[in-house]
Amino acid sequence: MRTIDELELGGKRVFIRVDFNVPLDEQRKVTDDTRIREALPTIQKAVRAGAKVILASHLGRPKGRDPKLSLEPPAGRLRELLGPEHEVVLADDCAGDGVQKVVRDLKAGQVLVLENLRFHKEEEANDEGFSRQLASLCDAYVNDAFGTAHRAHASTAGMVPFVAEKAAGYLMKKELEHLGKLLKGAERPFVAVLGGAKVSDKIKVIENLLPRVDALLVGGAMAYTFLKAQGVEVGKSRVEEDKLPLASKLLEAASRLGKELLLPIDHIAGTSPDEKSEAREVKERAIPRELMGLDIGPKTRELYRQQIRRAKTVFWNGPMGLFEVEKFAAGTREIAMAMADLREAVTVVGGGDSAAAVNEMGFASRMKHVSTGGGASLELLEGRELPGVRALEK
Ligand code: AMP
Repeated sequence: MRTIDELELGGKRVFIRVDFNVPLDEQRKVTDDTRIREALPTIQKAVRAGAKVILASHLGRPKGRDPKLSLEPPAGRLRELLGPEHEVVLADDCAGDGVQKVVRDLKAGQVLVLENLRFHKEEEANDEGFSRQLASLCDAYVNDAFGTAHRAHASTAGMVPFVAEKAAGYLMKKELEHLGKLLKGAERPFVAVLGGAKVSDKIKVIENLLPRVDALLVGGAMAYTFLKAQGVEVGKSRVEEDKLPLASKLLEAASRLGKELLLPIDHIAGTSPDEKSEAREVKERAIPRELMGLDIGPKTRELYRQQIRRAKTVFWNGPMGLFEVEKFAAGTREIAMAMADLREAVTVVGGGDSAAAVNEMGFASRMKHVSTGGGASLELLEGRELPGVRALEK
């Protein structure tokens, strides 16, 4: 796969697929600009080389044109980050005659941000006509949208064969290197920490990581499906009943492979999964009938911290509890801190909630890598080939 360094960019119309799908508040202000900042090196490279830069992204899940999901806020943030010497213009669409004209008038070093790709249903449908329209805007294609690389859409896959030259951007390259190394040649001991709502989302990741890791630490609601599969009373905790046999199988696989699959040994529990619930410490594995587990307890926090402390590689995806509510956030914070405290180890945080937690808690700069892609990083660790990456390799 070529990278942007291998493309001749000067004077060319360069289409960069970025992932500006960022969170917005009610005033439509960008609340976390990580994905925009992470795309800057690629954008700056193209601008400085004298390319006519065309940026394209989706934002949210619009059903047709929706002004609330315009790319204006991320484009505005990009303008601030690039500074006054670069002009950033927002097009009012991403395809059609109007855009063709704007692109024709683009000058070297200017940045054009196309309007939300998903205002056209053809984007997600990976429609060939739409792919050709996007391709007709440019001479070279660069994909830096790792967070969307697990989707075979027009802008991530469909348009690529219709452009003369293609390459990965710096963010895409960095993500593939860091996450790829976890599957091939990770330094041991390798500890993986998995949490979040559902076992079903993580089954394939667990299957693929088990042979590679030394220990797998499980937290979040998914831990209760495992505990119940072991015959432990979990009270009202969230359990995926239909996944109990699979949880048992994974536990068996871990012991067959001689890997430690650790589950919580104590809990912070409550009566409902919200702010109103009181937080009660349950000092043993079994949870009383009237309660639900909402975070890992202090003994588990310490146990997991010790496991992380001995690791040379740590991968983490998924919160340890209902971390949006402060009284159930201690377990998630402990994992972030334990990883941040490691000096020599390779620490990688999968995207989504755990990346948001690490950013919010201020630990991001102390991690080796915080992925910008939740779904994409999980699919990669499942051992799957991402359509957006495959398109660059063909
Ligand atoms: P996921 O999208 O699978 O990473 O799951 C993240 C969501 O799971 C977050 O909104 C967490 O608040 C929630 N969560 C984590 N642990 C628990 C738990 N013990 N009970 C209920 N929800 C949980």
